[in-house]
Amino acid sequence: MQMQVSDMTTNKITTTCCIAGGGPAGMMLGLLLARAGVVVVVLEKHADFLRDFRGDTIHPSTLELMHELGWLDDFLKLPHQKAAVLTAQFGGLTAPVVDFTHLPTRCKFIALMPQWDFLNFLADRATRYPTFTLTMRAEVTGLVEEAGRVVGVRATTPEGPLEVRADLVVAADGRASIVRTRGGLAVETLGAPMDVLWFRLTRAQTDSDQTMFIARAGRILVMIDRGEHWQCAYVIAKGTLDEIRAKGLPAFRDSVAALAPFARDRVGEIASWDDVKLLTVAVDRLTRWHRPGLLAIGDAAHAMSPIGGVGVNLAVQDAVAAANLLAGPLREKRLRDDDLARVQRRREFPTRIIQRFQIIVQKRIVTRILGSDGGELTPPLALRLLQRYPVLRRLPARFIGLGVRPEHVRTPELAQPAK
Ligand SMILES: Cc1cc2nc3c(=O)[nH]c(=O)nc-3n(C[C@H](O)[C@H](O)[C@H](O)COP(=O)(O)OP(=O)(O)OC[C@H]3O[C@@H](n4cnc5c(N)ncnc54)[C@H](O)[C@@H]3O)c2cc1C
Repeated sequence: MQMQVSDMTTNKITTTCCIAGGGPAGMMLGLLLARAGVVVVVLEKHADFLRDFRGDTIHPSTLELMHELGWLDDFLKLPHQKAAVLTAQFGGLTAPVVDFTHLPTRCKFIALMPQWDFLNFLADRATRYPTFTLTMRAEVTGLVEEAGRVVGVRATTPEGPLEVRADLVVAADGRASIVRTRGGLAVETLGAPMDVLWFRLTRAQTDSDQTMFIARAGRILVMIDRGEHWQCAYVIAKGTLDEIRAKGLPAFRDSVAALAPFARDRVGEIASWDDVKLLTVAVDRLTRWHRPGLLAIGDAAHAMSPIGGVGVNLAVQDAVAAANLLAGPLREKRLRDDDLARVQRRREFPTRIIQRFQIIVQKRIVTRILGSDGGELTPPLALRLLQRYPVLRRLPARFIGLGVRPEHVRTPELAQPAK
């Protein structure tokens, strides 16, 4: 059990598994380990999960996990929109390109839900287990090492410094992971030619209810149906924000209106550049996801491009695989370095395949569109085939909706949840 001892300055905690970062990867891993009877502490640097413009897509495979945990009905009571078909507009051609309605899962759609609702749901379920502790406003700043082994983390909290000693430290602190840096895990950068500008526009009753990918020469806009509003992702060539800003806000609004003429009457809602958030895109992965006492998962192990909107799903899948492989060894205090290597062996393959796909789309489609400075875009052959043969739309649906090597909950519920 946890032990809390205070010395003069540093609060010290001992636990079995300490997870840095309460995003999709960290919360799902913490929940599954605690449910399986492993004592877990999750440290999250923010005070809450209320951050806008994060991946808000809950894929069919994650919904399937909710079903396996027996929580699907409760989960779907949270407000969400269903995306069963995704549509692309490429120059003059508009076509459905992804059709989830034939997936062999209970939910044949992506649930579009604010990520904070998803994380709050996981936190609510996890804190029912006495084995789970979530500490908000705890920012991990460094690792504690002994004889080449990671044995804990140092963090700052409003109450002062905190040291958490653990049999295993998990880096789930996202693409800018401090834990992977401090742990000396080497990063292979794969590169991304674009960044994304996020903003909102009101959604009118008469608008389509389909999530849309719209491409015209030099510009891409993705519009995600969020009920009352559209969450808009305007894709720009990397490093060109200053150039776009220099042309002025009216020019930016005009560009948005040209891509989405039905929303022309609402582009004035982008009142200042403060309404437009820059999200930088990175694609990378660790060559080795672990070292004695330390494991990285989710974006901390492999930052994902937004292409396909699969980063949250992959982070969750990493967490499920890690829980399946590590819950027993952690609970029984027999964790070996090879157990950590097994997590990388299991999850590296799906990561490589998906990143490969993202890099191909970045090079062949995104770079081509952003580099085009006029004239009508010629729709790629793949899009024309998807338009012509509806059965083909099931392939990207499987790839995006289920991913490669889908994981299932194999960990038992050994901790007794509070009612
Ligand atoms: C522009 C853009 C759009 C995207 N859109 C989508 C999408 O639509 N769908 C999708 O599936 N994916 C999308 N992604 C990818 C997705 O956001 C990530 O892949 C996913 O969030 C990874 O989850 P994670 O838990 O590994 O990391 P994160 O979600 O980054 O969570 C890390 C957590 O760790 C916390 N943290 C960080 N540092 C510390 C520290 N030192 N101490 C304690 N806590 C810390 C953070 O506050 C955060 O809560 C998008 C990415 C980008 C860049």
